[in-house]
Amino acid sequence: MRRDTIQAPAVEVQRRTPEVLRRIEERCAGLLPRVEAKMKTLSGRDRRPEARLVDQAAQAGTVAKRVMWLRKAADYLQEGAAHLAACRKGCSHCCHISVMVSRAEAQVIARETGAHLNTAAGQFTMQGFEEQSETIRAATLQAYGAACTFLREGSCSIYSSRPLQCRLLLNMDDDDLLCQLIENGDSNVPYLNTTEHHIASVTVLGAHQDYDDLRNWFPKGMPA
Ligand code: SF4
Repeated sequence: MRRDTIQAPAVEVQRRTPEVLRRIEERCAGLLPRVEAKMKTLSGRDRRPEARLVDQAAQAGTVAKRVMWLRKAADYLQEGAAHLAACRKGCSHCCHISVMVSRAEAQVIARETGAHLNTAAGQFTMQGFEEQSETIRAATLQAYGAACTFLREGSCSIYSSRPLQCRLLLNMDDDDLLCQLIENGDSNVPYLNTTEHHIASVTVLGAHQDYDDLRNWFPKGMPA
């Protein structure tokens, strides 16, 4: 989601009509060269500030400080690519898909926002991710189309505390067509590749962490 305050109507999951599928197919046909051209312009960006911020996170003495430095690193990465992304004020598609969050990060969000943390959540671990792939896919599908519990009238109600994943989800296409939700849809969105950053985050916060969708950690969202 873009950094601006978001005001958007709730998104709908579209039917898989031939017309919708045709539009997606046409878009996907020319996608790769367009996105590669954008990525080329990004390849010259100095990544050392981001690496330094991740180092600061690794050296921080508390989980809250580690998360704070990781957020700064994620924001640096996001800011460098945002001008090339499709993400615009008024869009909240990515608040209707799965957002995986570690227990450490969920605890920090709970402390910062006062939202009630469901401590019984945390059904996945980074170790043995392969064996859990079916369960993870099921959880991802369950979240698909369901508004994040922190989404209020189209706005993120915990914007400054939003998860690392929310900071880094950038659609590198030219508009939101591929972000639009389609029933039983597999995603074709050309998201910015942030794998390195996610691996660094897992390493800094501890690979032993359990993970879950944000909706499971915070089923009630923010107190009214
Ligand atoms: S925390 Fe929820 S509402 Fe906020 S940006 Fe992430 S998905 Fe959207």
